[in-house]
Amino acid sequence: MELTNDQKKSLLGQGYIPSDDGVHFACRVLIPAGKMNAEVARKIAEICEKYGKGVFNLTQRANVEIPWIKHQDLDKVASELKEVGLFIGGTGIRVRPALVCKGNVCKFGFFNTEDVGKEIDERFYRGQYKSLLPNKFRIVVSGCNNGCTKPLLGCIGLQGRKPNQVTIMIGGMFGKDHMVGQELAGLYSVSEALDIVEKAITYYRENGLPGERFAKTVERMGFETVASFLVG
Ligand code: SF4
Repeated sequence: MELTNDQKKSLLGQGYIPSDDGVHFACRVLIPAGKMNAEVARKIAEICEKYGKGVFNLTQRANVEIPWIKHQDLDKVASELKEVGLFIGGTGIRVRPALVCKGNVCKFGFFNTEDVGKEIDERFYRGQYKSLLPNKFRIVVSGCNNGCTKPLLGCIGLQGRKPNQVTIMIGGMFGKDHMVGQELAGLYSVSEALDIVEKAITYYRENGLPGERFAKTVERMGFETVASFLVG
């Protein structure tokens, strides 16, 4: 049975990315905080061999994509991934899972980036999954000034500056078009920063135009206006 474009679009929004050949999909597997244990890695390898062509790709946001999966196998792949606590997703016009650096095991990290990434995923990705936005919304976390995950290029970025204190950047994006984010004044605890992330998402939902990236919303409304809503 040939899938309609609407069916393919719906699957894309759930993390099943249609291939050029019109038959196969790549399943985007979310890897919380970019870290997987041996059991999880073995399961991914097993699924690649069983349903795909024995290969997978690492994405720029530290997730895994398993290509060459047939439509009739998508549910089986999702169900087998669930056995090791993994889910397919990370697409669509919503908050995306966090991109975090390995700051929890890095000597330079000022806070536990893995815990923060998991909290972001729980609170904003899963917690607001059904609440669509004008476009995707990316949250980027770096544990220190080195900014390995490039928080200046996230819709909103948190970057460690002192133990458990972060600076916040808003309005970055990277893709066909790119913009460098600007820093909000001051330092914030991680908990305060996550509340500001929530306000930024709300602001975007209420003020972004259909299809507009948050960086463009910030540019159109003015950085000072958005900054004063977030931290004024
Ligand atoms: S941003 Fe800092 S804490 Fe994170 S991995 Fe890079 S050097 Fe380590």
